[in-house]
Amino acid sequence: MAKIKTHYEDCDVLVVGGGMAGTGAAFEARHWGRDLKIICVEKANIDRSGAVAQGLYAINCYMGMQWNENQPEDHVRYARNDLMGLVREDLGYDMARHVDSTVHMFDEWGLPMMKNEKTGRYLREGKWQIMIHGESYKPIVAEAAKKSADKIYNRIMITHLLMDESSENRVGGAVGFNMRTGDFYVFRAKTVIVAAGGASHIFKPRAVGEGMGRTWYAPWSNGSAYALPIAVGAKMTQMENRIVLTRFKDGYGPVGAYFLHLKTYTQNANGENYEKKWYDQTKEIVGEYIDHHPVPTCLRNHAFIEETKAGGGPIQMVTTEAFADPHLEVIGWENFLGMTVGQAVVWASQDIDPKYTNPELTTSEPYVMGSHATCSGAWVSGPEDLSPPEYFWGYNRMLTVEGLFGAGDTVGGSAHKFSSGSFTEGRLAAKAAVKYIYDKKAENIKVTDKQCDDFKETIYKPLENYTVGRNEITGGTVSPSYILPIQGLQRLQKIMDEYVGGVGVNYMTNGNLLKRGLELLSILQEDLEHVGAEDYHQLMRAWELKHRALTSQCVAEHTMFREETRWPGYYYRGDHMKLDDDNWHCLTVSRRDPKTGKFTMEKAPVYHIVDEEKKKEAS
Ligand SMILES: Cc1cc2nc3c(=O)[nH]c(=O)nc-3n(C[C@H](O)[C@H](O)[C@H](O)COP(=O)(O)OP(=O)(O)OC[C@H]3O[C@@H](n4cnc5c(N)ncnc54)[C@H](O)[C@@H]3O)c2cc1C
Repeated sequence: MAKIKTHYEDCDVLVVGGGMAGTGAAFEARHWGRDLKIICVEKANIDRSGAVAQGLYAINCYMGMQWNENQPEDHVRYARNDLMGLVREDLGYDMARHVDSTVHMFDEWGLPMMKNEKTGRYLREGKWQIMIHGESYKPIVAEAAKKSADKIYNRIMITHLLMDESSENRVGGAVGFNMRTGDFYVFRAKTVIVAAGGASHIFKPRAVGEGMGRTWYAPWSNGSAYALPIAVGAKMTQMENRIVLTRFKDGYGPVGAYFLHLKTYTQNANGENYEKKWYDQTKEIVGEYIDHHPVPTCLRNHAFIEETKAGGGPIQMVTTEAFADPHLEVIGWENFLGMTVGQAVVWASQDIDPKYTNPELTTSEPYVMGSHATCSGAWVSGPEDLSPPEYFWGYNRMLTVEGLFGAGDTVGGSAHKFSSGSFTEGRLAAKAAVKYIYDKKAENIKVTDKQCDDFKETIYKPLENYTVGRNEITGGTVSPSYILPIQGLQRLQKIMDEYVGGVGVNYMTNGNLLKRGLELLSILQEDLEHVGAEDYHQLMRAWELKHRALTSQCVAEHTMFREETRWPGYYYRGDHMKLDDDNWHCLTVSRRDPKTGKFTMEKAPVYHIVDEEKKKEAS
């Protein structure tokens, strides 16, 4: 341990994760806090990190308020409908009213936006999406963050949050290590904004063996956004609301541009519209929600899953008609080249030319995220002008730990933010964090050397476990004294798959399975004390696994608590196979006691802020 060098950095605003939300936070923190010290710490390199690393072909959240294309109220209605009624409308409205200004900045910063030749407006792909040539999206927002922050630290994984020792429940910074040099880093901070992305690879993926690592969601998103706040006792919400995506098979190539722009459609193996076949059965489960327009994403997944179970697969995307038009054919390919090159490679390797063959679709393994079509994440305060008392405790996007803020995938309850909305939420969180500092809420924070030294010992323990345990074996990877990160990861994924509703069981679980799954997860937690890391890269894998395991426990606890099937197509509670608005039209909120490791669960009310006034007038 003595060999490991320690670096100290004191700052005002610490941004953990330099993806979309993190770059937005760094940018906005500088705008409001000209004299503040702003640091951003990123596990990869912010030029190409996070879910947008490879680029995007569309900005999925743009209102177009200047042309009255949509207003924030419309977006709240849309997200509410897609999430079967359960969202934090205050957070969604707040993001939506600011998101256009974010997109206009991207335009000014040089992001190539496609324009509608007739109207001169941004070219719409769908009601909410506008099309971009987005290969350079991430370097462009990274440049804004680099110009704003005092320093960007790349290749440092944050493993723990520091807590103030002079008062209860206040954050004091974060610690982590450099994955290349192995050095230990202590960031003492007045406020911390967690923007560390979602969680992939907690459920067993469809792609195993030679395809291992291929997922829809970014493979390096390991749930730090959840594990860091959970570990210090911050409340979380809607963690059961995992997402399953219908995507092109094996490459997980996006379908949005295909459906919306190319007007392709799906069919079963017999060329039938299978969605209609499952209407009555779906209505039995969710009632009138199936009649909503647009049909909620999970319900379309549900028809896909049922049709496949009934032997109607493979489900295909009909591309042959659209690809007969040379212009649409180009768009179809460009869509992949700008953001998922791997799908084009998979098709080439499987002799699929979408001009002549309708490619197969699949439903993905579940992921946990708060910025895409689902809303798992931290329970945060909303803005003071919109939020009812239960949703407001002083500073916008502040978690239930003082001085700790969140944005993007970190924040729960506010789905459909996507890249632009996540950047926007980073801006909102940073503005509030700066105010928190100027309001003198972050005075006299005490972080002792002991707290930092204890973390140092904990963080590097997997290296020691390996070094000592390795002497007991002469070859191979199975040791009586340690497990390797990959072994622990595969065990975690198996538990989550079989007990918490993954692909192996057609997304089905129940109370008994969850109870057993939670027992197995707690045994895994014990064994993770003995994870062994051969080098600094494996040390990162070890900590990614620990963050995934904690996130998974929280997901399982929430899934156990909600005794209904609210989102068929995302997961099913076999013992409560119906949506139950009488008892479960509410948000679920958890807290893990940092001392005991036990979770407690509660219900929180859903306030329908948009349209509520009209309802009151009518009554
Ligand atoms: C496959 C896919 C397709 C998408 N398509 C679109 C689209 O077409 N249009 C659109 O608008 N949106 C799209 N999105 C959504 C968009 O990418 C996300 O909403 C957005 O990136 C979320 O922002 P974030 O900052 O929360 O997470 P991210 O952008 O993923 O950033 C998280 C960052 O945190 C870092 N990090 C993680 N853990 C740590 C740690 N412990 N310490 C330090 N750093 C850490 C990561 O390396 C990463 O840089 C897509 C997402 C995916 C996965």
